[in-house]
Amino acid sequence: MATATQPESLKVVQPSVPETKPDPKPQRLPLGPIQTVHVFWLAGMSCDGCSISVTGATNPGIEGLLLGTVPAMPKVILHHPVLSVESGEGFTQPFKDAVAGQLGAPYVVVYEGSVADERIAERTGGYFCAMGMEAMGEGEGGESRPTPTATWLKRMAPGAAATIAIGTCATWGGVPSAEGNPTGAMSLMDFLGKDYRSAFGLPVINIPGCAPQGDNFTETVFAVLLFLQGLGPLPTFDELGRPAWLFAETVHRGCTRAGYYEEGVFAKNYGDPECLVDIGCWGPVVNCNIVKRGAINHMGGCMEAGGVCIGCTMPGFPDKFSPFYKAPPGAFFSTAASMSVGAVIRRLRRLSNRHSNTEVRWDVLDHVPSGWGNLKAQPLALKVTELFYQKWQHFRAKKPGRPPGEEDRFWGGDRPGNRADYHDHSATREDTDDRS
Ligand code: SF4
Repeated sequence: MATATQPESLKVVQPSVPETKPDPKPQRLPLGPIQTVHVFWLAGMSCDGCSISVTGATNPGIEGLLLGTVPAMPKVILHHPVLSVESGEGFTQPFKDAVAGQLGAPYVVVYEGSVADERIAERTGGYFCAMGMEAMGEGEGGESRPTPTATWLKRMAPGAAATIAIGTCATWGGVPSAEGNPTGAMSLMDFLGKDYRSAFGLPVINIPGCAPQGDNFTETVFAVLLFLQGLGPLPTFDELGRPAWLFAETVHRGCTRAGYYEEGVFAKNYGDPECLVDIGCWGPVVNCNIVKRGAINHMGGCMEAGGVCIGCTMPGFPDKFSPFYKAPPGAFFSTAASMSVGAVIRRLRRLSNRHSNTEVRWDVLDHVPSGWGNLKAQPLALKVTELFYQKWQHFRAKKPGRPPGEEDRFWGGDRPGNRADYHDHSATREDTDDRS
């Protein structure tokens, strides 16, 4: 965010921007094999975290898209205020060409950060977020002024094949639009309006997250480009324009700590391995795939790294999830329920876990040949429980092994080698061979 004060004489000639609706100039672009596609990256009220996360994408990686080495993908020409080599007029000219319809190739607009209400800044002759300069007066030597990125968005969105909001600031307003903000910051949906459609008839595509996973972005771009190539169906988006296959499930359903929640075991301190809901995790009600996908290259992610979910992918973020790091009110009821049921489930599972942690052979011989600990195969109580459990497990089902009545086992008569080869001699109970 930046502000600048302009001379009094300039204020009168400033166009009143931004309006909250784009110019309705739908342009139809041909569907079919596309050689190249331009991606115009605009940054509003952003921390550049979305850009950083996209550079970490691996599947597909941004390098493959830029080099045109991803199968079935057109080559992507990225115009990015930080990553592009060009600067000044050389950088902004393609943006102007796109606005003028002179680019000669389809383009996608990506907007990072929320859209400030530049009318507020304009009252004092300043601006919040801008890129490039444009002349304000007639002829050479006239005054010029920074062009708000909101203005670029308004001009470019109608002709774009797709407009993608990346990150929670762009998708839902995010932190810059929190209660009490002075900028009137808003999301792309709020700025462009309900009736906005791209040149291909798409509303704004939303990829939330603070920062979003880079792979969520590149995968969505990949899917949209496949569609634009005529090689794939239009990817499924939910009612808020999120890629449905990425945001349909809650964090909790894919969380590696969800088993603890189910068994009613909760962390009390940061660093504990159990479920984090008691120390402020909102994962059960938040649509996000961070734990399934990981942060970068399938590594990390909030709960994997020990952090609670603060709902950063949600339209209600941040106001509806604050104060952060305090247990959500609903957690009181759900944790009480899972603690009471989970206590029973946990104990039963422990029994089964113990039973499955022994070879059948160890159970029969009542001996575990482990050098790591002095283990009994199974205590009597467990044997009785498991007897019942096994009956139930194999009820009307074929049991593994030989038919009932054939008592000999592999480690009996057919045991390889000589008895003396076996150090512990514990395997002799059914050993009927005479090779020793
Ligand atoms: Fe669910 Fe959060 Fe617990 Fe994971 S840490 S199981 S997302 S409540």
